[in-house]
Amino acid sequence: MSYSMPELIGTKRDGGHLEPAELEWIIARYTADEIPDYQISALLMAIMFRGMSQTELAAWTDAMLHSGDVLDLSSTDMPKIDKHSTGGVGDKISIPLAPLVVACGVAIPMMSGRGLGHTGGTLDKLETIPGFRTRLDPDVFARQLDDLGLVLAGQSETLVPADRRIYSLRDASGTVPSVPLISSSIMSKKLAEDLDGLVLDVKIGSGAFMKDVASGRELAETMVGIGESHDTPVVGLLTDMDQPLGTEVGNANEMIESIAILKGYGPDDTTELTLRLGEEMLILGGVAADRGEARSQLDAVIASGSALDVFARVIEAQGGDPRVLEDQSLFPSADNVHTVVAKKSGFVERCDALAVGRSAVRLGAGRQAKEDEVDPGVGISVQAKVGDEVQEGDALATVSYNTSSQLAACLPVLETAWILADEPPAPRPLILGEVR
Ligand code: URA
Repeated sequence: MSYSMPELIGTKRDGGHLEPAELEWIIARYTADEIPDYQISALLMAIMFRGMSQTELAAWTDAMLHSGDVLDLSSTDMPKIDKHSTGGVGDKISIPLAPLVVACGVAIPMMSGRGLGHTGGTLDKLETIPGFRTRLDPDVFARQLDDLGLVLAGQSETLVPADRRIYSLRDASGTVPSVPLISSSIMSKKLAEDLDGLVLDVKIGSGAFMKDVASGRELAETMVGIGESHDTPVVGLLTDMDQPLGTEVGNANEMIESIAILKGYGPDDTTELTLRLGEEMLILGGVAADRGEARSQLDAVIASGSALDVFARVIEAQGGDPRVLEDQSLFPSADNVHTVVAKKSGFVERCDALAVGRSAVRLGAGRQAKEDEVDPGVGISVQAKVGDEVQEGDALATVSYNTSSQLAACLPVLETAWILADEPPAPRPLILGEVR
């Protein structure tokens, strides 16, 4: 059966529905290079404005999922649960979370991405460990999961190739912030990992795709619905991304904070979010009956050092130097430091995640285009967060940089991040809701 792309685009543009067979045909033909980018871009824009019905979304997600290989990880006898964040600034949570959860008896076949735009990526952070490899052959991936219960790798070329192509197009055509397009993109990749359950961290605020709780909830509900139709339980937490998470932004900086969380002395917000997401993963994996039991198990593997041992074994298995866990000087670092200071006294009312994220990209910690290289040692240590009281001249942040041109590009944006007020702001919770 063959269809006319202009007719299909027209149907969607005019508010009609596309049939499952038509959507499957589009994904299959586009993956085979038989539909040009401009027609898919036009369709994506129509989907952005018109949305998708549940039937359309299920068919589109399924067609993406089957556009390439689907992993078979059935030889692993532990429950397989993954976590996915919709992306943010200073969001290093996957790195401490994964060894913690694995130390409690749940396996994680974690496939992560690189930073793009103002958000960081787990792969860029992990690659600051000297020697650490994130490209693993599928058989090595499956064997390591059997042996250690944890793999921290990039997505293989053959997994959901339709998403790789469509995501690049969306990035270039202004069609990223769409609930059906984001949810099908994330869920097709996660369902291809042969999971028993998934915990989603849906970020909300200036540094996230979703700017308010209502749209974050809609995204989470859509992904939970896709999980249900594939018999994969999904739990979504809606969490704050209006200010950066934790204190560190930048690749090596975030690895150092991640190790501190694993050792039990990380910042309160990143530690709490790691443990909260960990609770959901242990419950989904069936190794804890409730949140209290899960929290005790997570606390115990921090205190005993067994979570850190899991991380050391994974680093070694993937070619990295596990001495980084004890010796931070083995991470790449920047040559110079600049301190951003408060121009007046007051309470921090705003520490804008988007401004901090954008300034980190200008510093070289992130990439503006896919092919850009990141500078692994540069970063921003945030010293004043929402609610903190500062005096004029106190440090708001320290910037680790390599070239004065990077610093000159970063500062004008970074300095706009803080708003100081005479009164302390109303507290904003870290967890804004949950969907299950
Ligand atoms: N992350 C994804 O994998 N896809 C999206 O569309 C947005 C965030």
